[in-house]
Amino acid sequence: MYPDTQLFIDGTWRPARGGRSLPVLNPATEEVIGQVAHASTDDLDEALAAAAKGFALWKKVSAYERSKLMRKAADIFRGRADTIAQYMTLEQGKPLAEAKMEVLAAADIIDWFAEESRRAYGRVIPARAEGVYQLVVKEPVGPVAAFTPWNFPINQVVRKLSAAVATGCSIIVKAPEETPASPAELIRAFADAGLPAGVANLVFGVPAEISEYLVPHPVIRKVTFTGSTPIGKHLAALAGAHMKRVTMELGGHAPAIVFDDADLEHAAKTLAGAKFRNAGQVCVSPTRFLVQEKSYPEFVERFTAIAKALKVGAGMDGDTQMGPLAHERRVPWVEGLVADARQRGAEVHTGGERLGNKGYFYQPTVLTGVGKDARMMNEEPFGPVAMIAPFSDLDEVVEEANRLPFGLASYAFTRSAKTANAIAARVESGMMTINHLGLALPEVPFGGMKDSGYGSEGGSEAIEAYLNTKFVTQAGL
Ligand code: NAD
Repeated sequence: MYPDTQLFIDGTWRPARGGRSLPVLNPATEEVIGQVAHASTDDLDEALAAAAKGFALWKKVSAYERSKLMRKAADIFRGRADTIAQYMTLEQGKPLAEAKMEVLAAADIIDWFAEESRRAYGRVIPARAEGVYQLVVKEPVGPVAAFTPWNFPINQVVRKLSAAVATGCSIIVKAPEETPASPAELIRAFADAGLPAGVANLVFGVPAEISEYLVPHPVIRKVTFTGSTPIGKHLAALAGAHMKRVTMELGGHAPAIVFDDADLEHAAKTLAGAKFRNAGQVCVSPTRFLVQEKSYPEFVERFTAIAKALKVGAGMDGDTQMGPLAHERRVPWVEGLVADARQRGAEVHTGGERLGNKGYFYQPTVLTGVGKDARMMNEEPFGPVAMIAPFSDLDEVVEEANRLPFGLASYAFTRSAKTANAIAARVESGMMTINHLGLALPEVPFGGMKDSGYGSEGGSEAIEAYLNTKFVTQAGL
């Protein structure tokens, strides 16, 4: 039902050289379901050598051929969706339907990058003298080190892997030890589609040991990380010290702003869906719900009713709408934030407790009266917790939306074009979705500003991040 996961280095699946492995747990049962190989520096040295060799080879393959191979990988991956979704649900906890959506969306992402790889155009700049050509040429940046988390085990890898493969780079992926089997299947689909040995490599181990080794290494030319802001700052500093290109997709604390003129039923339903998806373990999860005064009581009532009715359970059960938290560390974290808010006088409308005594389940939770000094109004909950607060006017809500150092996603609901324009212009976030959920499609930019990081993992910007710009000027002889 659930496989052990090996390293993939230089085109070969194999155990770690030292023979070490780590257990993988099912967060719904706390049972060990498999093992993942644990890389040592010997393995990393081999992965680096393979990535150097893979890059030398892959950068010479035409964009047309790279694109063809990627589309084949997407088809293979799509064809295995049912099995891979099961692996993901077993290791990560999310409902099977969400896992399957993630697999299918990943196949679409590969397809999109496959197409976009054929459009990594340079340009010709008019020259000041006759017979002179000024060319801007795009070249792959080189071997990439990618670090990805456990909340979207495949989605977080596929954007980095696809951008690297599409542009002619090679890559070493350090995928999450908590959820290793499903991202390994992504690498397998590329390998089975014929990706040459060394172009994509997969390792697991102690994240800090691996990043300390790979980031400064001269073979690596680019670093891409998805995870928490403190680790992102640490890795960006390390990459900066060694002058490596960087993409950082970090934490958020998204404001979800509902104006009095919004369709309240639609807003509550849409935002509740976004909040409790993946048990709130989503970097763009709506977190601070800011609702205009007149609508506030009705919104709280509607939102709480939806949260109360959610069926929480093991992701493999067909009727489950929200699974457990993905690993043991998450439970005390969410419990700590809720306890702190309660202590400071917050009112719990539903939830607020761990659920059952087996598995990392936490109730869908709705709080009001959470003061701005409460930890959860400042730190990323990364759990199924919504804080709802009233506001009176645009200036006040913009100030609250921009109060935190984060700037990843934001949400707004209003029937007024004037309000929509004002909120889009004034909220400091890398992404803003108004009156619907429109984030994270492969063709649109995905990334943050301020402490949420920099760079983009979607749209043509995501390709650009894996390319160097070279200027060539040539005079006729
Ligand atoms: P964490 O900060 O220890 O780890 C986050 C991710 O970074 C994990 O995948 C981990 O393996 C990796 N990591 C940690 N230290 C690293 C290092 N030195 N070098 C390279 N990779 C490293 O915390 P966690 O308990 O796994 O997750 C908690 C927090 O992480 C959440 O509250 C959330 O803020 C953040 N997070 C964000 C995302 C996202 O999508 N942006 C995803 C997962 C976790």
